[in-house]
Amino acid sequence: PVVTRFAPSPTGFLHIGGARTALFNWLYARGRGGKFLLRIEDTDRARSTPEATEAILQGMAWLGLDHDGEIVSQFENAPRHAAVAQELLAAGKAYKCFATQEEITAFRDAARAEGKSTLYRSPWRDADQSTHPDAPFVIRIKAPQAGESVIRDQVQGDVTIRNDQLDDMVLLRSDGTPVYMLAVVVDDHDMGVTHVIRGDDHLNNAARQMMIYEAMGWDVPVWAHIPLIHGPDGKKLSKRHGALGAQEYQAMGYPAAGMRNYLARLGWSHGDDEFFTDAQAKEWFNLGGIGKSPARFDLKKLENLSGQHIAQTGDAALQQEIDAYLTAAGQPPLSDAQSTLLARALYCVKERAKTLPELLEKAHFALTSRPIEADEKAAKALDSVSRGILRELTPQLQTDSWCRETLEDILNAFATSKDTKFGKLAGPLRAALAGRAVTPSVFDMMLVLGQEETLARLTDAAQ
Ligand code: GLU
Repeated sequence: PVVTRFAPSPTGFLHIGGARTALFNWLYARGRGGKFLLRIEDTDRARSTPEATEAILQGMAWLGLDHDGEIVSQFENAPRHAAVAQELLAAGKAYKCFATQEEITAFRDAARAEGKSTLYRSPWRDADQSTHPDAPFVIRIKAPQAGESVIRDQVQGDVTIRNDQLDDMVLLRSDGTPVYMLAVVVDDHDMGVTHVIRGDDHLNNAARQMMIYEAMGWDVPVWAHIPLIHGPDGKKLSKRHGALGAQEYQAMGYPAAGMRNYLARLGWSHGDDEFFTDAQAKEWFNLGGIGKSPARFDLKKLENLSGQHIAQTGDAALQQEIDAYLTAAGQPPLSDAQSTLLARALYCVKERAKTLPELLEKAHFALTSRPIEADEKAAKALDSVSRGILRELTPQLQTDSWCRETLEDILNAFATSKDTKFGKLAGPLRAALAGRAVTPSVFDMMLVLGQEETLARLTDAAQ
């Protein structure tokens, strides 16, 4: 069974790159009936904060990336990491190194002066471990010194490393705390992780992590190191390219489904498919589709996919997205009355809205209430002539059959009687019903608002 994991360091918000890593792991597991685990890599006590963990969890919750089982705290596993270091020591695969910092520096200085490799070679590796000074020590792994190690990476292919480039890395510091590299390997092993999908900034770590797997006789997981995300200019994504936090995109009003679709396409492809549902993404996602070169962030594509998802999301789910968006954007929640009317209006506002705020602007007529405030453009459409026309029209709308057909008949007949086109009436009607010059169709608004509210707005505007 497939087990993947997302292992963020809780030192800040959920970065767009982290969100993509989480998504890839989630898709890979969910598409294969596997498990997607979450581990918080909080061993750096100075930089890890509960607020950052909270922000990461919130970002994942927004994106719907649910994880299996309990959240694992790496820091809490420290005793287990230390125990593994002791096990390697007992097995002769690691050794106590008593070298002082001064000795190590002196070794490096001398190597540099002689033009040799500055990788530290501890004299304690081959020393008798039974007699040693009563002094602080670290535990180092015995790295292979000859031959090659091959990282079989699903994205990068086979990456070969000369073993003489590996040093006897420290596993346990002199204060007894485990190093990060040991923690990752032990946790991944203990959590039963079968596939590690992560940023290619960790590719170098993989070579060192492999030494620990091999020393312990553990199976190496399948590795897939994904290229980082670049900005549209091809440079590493940074603040000057725009928002970096996943949740900033929530506050800008991209729906989670659209964001998932976009992030899935960022560095992974399935033929020419751009738009796809979660079900399709889960079915299609594979490691072979991950590109070897960095993907470029493209806001236009995000907008496009976002619009398609808004149009295709079911009404109930869309209402939930809107509520979550308003909270994320720091706006007041909708009242019950607004929600009810919005629910009725969704069919005529969800086409061609690229973001949720765009949808809400189209739905303004359903969210606002009397007295309707006209914006500048709309106010111009309500001059004295138009108000006169509205005064004449309003009584004609006292019909018993409030349906599209009747309304069309009434408005067309009225336009003909005024010797004008319906189009001429639309401006004042939009202004009266929505206080806006750009709105959904007048008939849609009338049907959503209902007869009583429509007549009341027209009467107000005709004053
Ligand atoms: N904690 C690491 C990071 O946030 C990830 C380590 C890993 O995935 O192995 O970059």
